Amino acid sequence: MRNPTPLIATLLLCALSLFLISRSEKSKTSAGTDDGNTPAPPDHSSPGPSPDETSPERPSAATALSLLAETPDWSTLDIYQYTVSRSDFERLLTEIFTTDDTWKSYITLHGDRAEILTSHDPAVPSFTLHFSTPEKQVPAPRHWQSTDSLPIPPADKPLENLHIAIDPGHIGGEWAKIEERWFRIGADKPVMEGEMSLHVANLLQPMLEKLGARVSLVRKTTDPVTTLRPENLASLATAETAGDDPESLRKFAEKLFYRTAEIRARAELVNHTLKPDLVLCLHFNAAGWGDPTLPTLVPDTHFHILLNGAYTPDEVNLSDQRFAMLEKLLQRTHEEEALVGNTVANTFAEISKLPPYIYPPLGNNVRPVAGNPFLYARNLLANRLYDCPVIYMEPYVMNSVHDYARIQAGDYEGLREVNGEMLPSIFREYASALARGLAKHYARSQ
Ligand SMILES: [Zn+2]
Repeated sequence: MRNPTPLIATLLLCALSLFLISRSEKSKTSAGTDDGNTPAPPDHSSPGPSPDETSPERPSAATALSLLAETPDWSTLDIYQYTVSRSDFERLLTEIFTTDDTWKSYITLHGDRAEILTSHDPAVPSFTLHFSTPEKQVPAPRHWQSTDSLPIPPADKPLENLHIAIDPGHIGGEWAKIEERWFRIGADKPVMEGEMSLHVANLLQPMLEKLGARVSLVRKTTDPVTTLRPENLASLATAETAGDDPESLRKFAEKLFYRTAEIRARAELVNHTLKPDLVLCLHFNAAGWGDPTLPTLVPDTHFHILLNGAYTPDEVNLSDQRFAMLEKLLQRTHEEEALVGNTVANTFAEISKLPPYIYPPLGNNVRPVAGNPFLYARNLLANRLYDCPVIYMEPYVMNSVHDYARIQAGDYEGLREVNGEMLPSIFREYASALARGLAKHYARSQ
């Protein structure tokens, strides 16, 4: 793990990108997990939380968009005219991207087209999307390479011609406590997800390069990518939370920093500078751990991968998120994410021997993906904003008895006895299982 670099280095990494701030409801706190949907306190008897920075995003009072979002330019969807059939459009919309019928308030399906409301303002014209027909069918334009568009790779370089960006989840370092991805038992080493994901990324990069990929890291240090800090977001927090006490305002400003502003800055870097074919978001899952200095350990560990989809009714109501959902649908990212995710999940599970995570009774923010118990669709800030297919990894449970011991054992080569078994380091297993899954997918894809 690397030392923080001076702020100036971070400033060079990316431009200020707080043009589309949205937020999670501050009234719902997380304990142990970083899921804004998981109310505290967690039920420690349940197998685990839902992960990471999903956010039930509410409209800004001023704009009826996600907070500080810009009004989307719907004409940019014109490049997708005649690219999707009515049946494919309806299937993806109802089976992957939404969780109820709220979309019907905004999208009217006709035989040859969809009429899509772009605003709550009736004076703003709707957007017309023409469906493809057997007579008129245009291939969907893409700025990333799908599996089937890549040339056949040599056997020893299955990832040749592929540009992969690795996004190590969270920040770590001095921010680990603020971002609530830190816990410690007694004098043990503290567990910090942001440090662990970066360590896996540093192991994974040379493995993927050896397989022929061009690899970029979305962050290389435990400094934030965003140039904003919580104090820069205090006035926004105040404006959006009139009447709240100073403590909750401070926490909300921090959440705007480490969740919203940070991920939007990473999206700016991914979409405008790196421009990869695929993003790998690396996370470790957790169950609610309660007090981070007196954390609860749980018995079970598990694994799943998240693909973009399952927009909630509230998210469909926001025109910026409705626009993003349709852009994802029309770019056909789901098909690519499901293809890559299927092989990666099966390979990863085979090597790690992790069982699939079973979501507690499914709410309106998650859908299982048919055909693979390790795949779920969720609308997370990262997998929505990154403008290409995203494989969002959620293996291991940091505060499970089994994985906690492996994390404490640290990184090492070869096998060591942990929990009475001879095991590789959890970090090397993560990196090599993911690399093997990707190699298998792209090698067999012709
Ligand atoms: Zn995470």
